[in-house]
Amino acid sequence: MYDVVIIGAGPGGMTAALYAARSNLSVLMLEKGLPGGQMNNTAEIENYPGFESILGPDLSMKMLAGTEKFGVELKHDTVEKIENGGSIKIINGLNEMYQARTIIIATGAVHKMLGVKGEDSYSGMGVSYCAVCDGAFFRNKELLVVGGGDSAVEEAIYLTQFASKVTIVHRRDTLRAQKILQERAFNNEKISFEWNAVIEEIKGNQMKVTSVQLKNPKNDQSKEITADGVFIYVGLDPITQPFTSLGIVNDNGWIRTDERMRTTIPGIYAIGDVREKVLRQVTTAVGDGSIAGQEAYKYIEENSKINV
Ligand code: FAD
Ligand code: NAP
Repeated sequence: MYDVVIIGAGPGGMTAALYAARSNLSVLMLEKGLPGGQMNNTAEIENYPGFESILGPDLSMKMLAGTEKFGVELKHDTVEKIENGGSIKIINGLNEMYQARTIIIATGAVHKMLGVKGEDSYSGMGVSYCAVCDGAFFRNKELLVVGGGDSAVEEAIYLTQFASKVTIVHRRDTLRAQKILQERAFNNEKISFEWNAVIEEIKGNQMKVTSVQLKNPKNDQSKEITADGVFIYVGLDPITQPFTSLGIVNDNGWIRTDERMRTTIPGIYAIGDVREKVLRQVTTAVGDGSIAGQEAYKYIEENSKINV
């Protein structure tokens, strides 16, 4: 039995682990992929205080080292379901079953799909959701990036180091991304824009993408433009499927907490991108994690007094 089981070892989960372990609690982090979460898919992080710029995987390893220093255990497992047994909570992983006094949910979110014809069939053959993973395959090629948020604009800039041309396809005529990213994109001569454009179909020969069919939703005009690759950044879906039976997930799929990261179930907390919140960043995930780590300590302390 652990004092705290943390589900997900992104920046949120690793910070919660650090805070809980420094309060002398026994802490297990369960991670289905690589520790670091979305940071592993980010080339450069420029808005994490203390680092002028740091590679996402490097920041991941530094955060992990911090948890190891204080004895946090890390296991590779995928959590499928949790059960609220009151003072003892059950976590069902694919590999093992675990017991905990408290649970911190830090499962983050995954990229959304566009849901257009050709997206599925050319996935991995020109359609990608990760510039850091696949960008280098497109040296001197022409790429499209779909979306107008931070991810689309930042990754479009990143892709210009490989591609000969990057076109950002956005469904409106103004970007949602931070101003500094917008300015960089507007000033980058390899980047151009298709405004008021949605993708209707991604086309190709059998093995690779060759073009996309665009439509202007304002006047319904269509055109086909050539492309060797399409990078899709149209937002995120929270990973909450293992927790739906607990009744803590809102209608849009996010987990609602109070400012102490408490869900409606005592001893179960949610932090980071999976939480209903206004800003999804490394800094905000880390902030949530520190609060939850501390709250888990208080909860265990208060409940052990009651049980004495
Ligand atoms: P995540 O980082 O998503 O980590 C969640 C972890 O939980 C993952 O490792 C996942 O494998 C694991 N997990 C999920 N389900 C399970 C399960 N059932 N069982 C076990 N493990 C599970 N933010 C910035 O501040 N600066 C940036 O420059 C920046 N760039 C970004 C670029 C891109 C392309 C993207 C997509 C995001 C970027 N962000 C950036 C946002 C930032 O990465 C996230 O806000 C942050 O990583 C959220 O942290 P988290 O710990 O909540 O979740
Ligand atoms: P996002 O902010 O939700 O933006 C999604 C973009 O995709 C929006 O421009 C949206 O258009 C567009 N879109 C949504 N559905 C679409 C569809 N079906 N067809 C076409 N376009 C569609 O998502 P994100 O950019 O992935 O960012 C997610 C979170 O990570 C944010 O909190 C962001 O701040 C954070 N992040 C931060 C950084 C950084 O700090 N450097 C970098 C990356 C991500 P509309 O604008 O019209 O809605």
